[in-house]
Amino acid sequence: MSEIPDLAAIETMDATDPLRAMRDRFTLPEGVIYLDGNSLGAASHAVLAELQQAAGHEWAQDLIRAWNSAGWFDMPIELGDQIGRLIGAASGQTVVCDTTSINIYKVLHAALNMRGGRTVIVSEGDSFPTDLYIAEGVATTRDGASLRLSGIDAPAIEELIDEDVAVVLVNHVNYKSGELRDMGALTRKAHAAGALIIWDLCHTAGALPVELDRANADFAIGCSYKYLNGGPGAPAFIYAAQRHHDDIRQPLTGWWGHARPFAFERDYVAGAGIRRFLCGTQPVLSMRALKGALAIWDEVDMAALRRKSVALTELFIQLVEAKCGAYGLTLESTRDWTKRGSQVSFLHDHGYQIMRALIERGVIGDFRAPSTIRFGFTPLYVGYKDVWRAVEVLEDILRTETWKDPRFEVRDAVT
Ligand SMILES: *Cc1c(COP(=O)(O)O)cnc(C)c1O
Repeated sequence: MSEIPDLAAIETMDATDPLRAMRDRFTLPEGVIYLDGNSLGAASHAVLAELQQAAGHEWAQDLIRAWNSAGWFDMPIELGDQIGRLIGAASGQTVVCDTTSINIYKVLHAALNMRGGRTVIVSEGDSFPTDLYIAEGVATTRDGASLRLSGIDAPAIEELIDEDVAVVLVNHVNYKSGELRDMGALTRKAHAAGALIIWDLCHTAGALPVELDRANADFAIGCSYKYLNGGPGAPAFIYAAQRHHDDIRQPLTGWWGHARPFAFERDYVAGAGIRRFLCGTQPVLSMRALKGALAIWDEVDMAALRRKSVALTELFIQLVEAKCGAYGLTLESTRDWTKRGSQVSFLHDHGYQIMRALIERGVIGDFRAPSTIRFGFTPLYVGYKDVWRAVEVLEDILRTETWKDPRFEVRDAVT
């Protein structure tokens, strides 16, 4: 590995950072180094302004008229197209709605319906749990359907894909290790076996360039409150390739997905295109927060974002290993930056206490059971000196063993 940069070199990296000005768009509190944008992105001034406008003016003054006058009704499609531009999707293929968990449910059923004779769902044993819980729920309600998991039924997901497989549900970046998969290669593998593929983009939308159309992906889902900074509980999204639109049948056939919602017809008729993934009334205030959050992306060069993300994670690994190597931390993420998302994870037997001690000192990451401490690097508002300072605090906590204080053992509900 190259020589460890000193503080002067790191200050130069910040001074020449093309994304540096973006930080001023966010409302981060003084003294906090926020390395948890992979779990809940930071608030921006634009988001707070949108909320004030939507609640304080449109709702308060225009009342129900705002569905038309403020364009509330069309937001799922409009915001979907905006997210589509960040994930390599031509317009009309992405819709913002509901939660990631609910969207996985809809898309899994749609994919199984499109592959009639086949019954197997392939996924990853180390996936984010909700993806597996939903897949399990879907499998138990469909005759003959079953789940095959990497790490359990075979070591690698590629080995599980054969002629019985209807659909592969896979993470682009693993939530714990940060491992980045090759979207094009796995999509080709699934298609060669006649299966469909659903990409979970929770840890890549807004974190690195994604090319769904180019990879010939079938479906994708993801959330908007992580790297997209939409706010707590912000609605999720669904992508479906245009070629599938007429064949999509999903089970949550609510009135918003109807071809003519305001005709109030008795029978369900699926709406055209991506709209048929909608179910019912959407959370307008959360949508408006997301609208504020998405505005910034028109100015962001995704290649520059990825370059900075890689530089931040490389620097963090290098500094932690140089300064904290003696304290029992093991790198969980890969060293190969081409296979790593925008986060770095280390393992430690007392990871929970260490993370609590870090948070008390203003360095906010998170903990994932049983022993992962996780640091997310959001290039829009994390700088190189933040990385330096975070490692200084981590080294201090480990060297002085302040993490051993009993107050750090008490488990919060959300870790
Ligand atoms: C964050 C995350 C989710 C979240 O699902 P919700 O329905 O929003 O709670 C799902 N899957 C993955 C991979 C995630 O990282």
